[in-house]
Amino acid sequence: MNIILFGPPGAGKGTQAKYLVKKLNGHQISTGDILRDEIKKDTDIGKKIINNMNEGKFVSDDIVNSLLKNHVFDPNKKGKLIFDGYPRSISQARNLDLLLNSSNQKIDYIFFLNVNKETIVERIKKRKILEKRTDDDLDTIIKRYDTYVETTRPVLDYYSKNSNFHEIDGAMEIDQITNKIEAFLNV
Ligand code: AMP
Repeated sequence: MNIILFGPPGAGKGTQAKYLVKKLNGHQISTGDILRDEIKKDTDIGKKIINNMNEGKFVSDDIVNSLLKNHVFDPNKKGKLIFDGYPRSISQARNLDLLLNSSNQKIDYIFFLNVNKETIVERIKKRKILEKRTDDDLDTIIKRYDTYVETTRPVLDYYSKNSNFHEIDGAMEIDQITNKIEAFLNV
């Protein structure tokens, strides 16, 4: 089962992805984590993306798409992909379709965790204390949310007519969201 978790930064995509990894024996494909890992390892890519990441700006499609491809084409992960933070734009959604088609895969479920800006700001302020992410300061949070509204939210139109698209109130407690997802997945 390939699943997309979609929603603004701080909607709880990562939390639900980690849960689904355990429950379904899946693989979390968090482009944010993959990119942070490049920075941690101080790779050439890491050096190129560090400023954009810290400022809450998108990393270029070329870089994100090429890193993503390795995961989509990994035979061990095939059919068990749980996308968290990708796609973030219409062009990325199109790229994902191409990659999945050419590896004989499809998206089985899309879950949109819908949360308003005020809740996001409060949650990310708490996450900054817990996870010490350099892109979680207030200005950057707001910039990331605005980029979501401008560039990422239009991706909803791309998916929302599909019968496998489900909107979930992301302001609910973590367990309640998990229960909703489980009910759709029938697991
Ligand atoms: P996240 O962990 O999903 O909140 O992502 C953290 C940061 O990584 C974002 O603010 C972007 O700078 C970068 N990033 C993650 N995923 C993508 C993506 N699909 N496209 C472009 N940049 C991304």
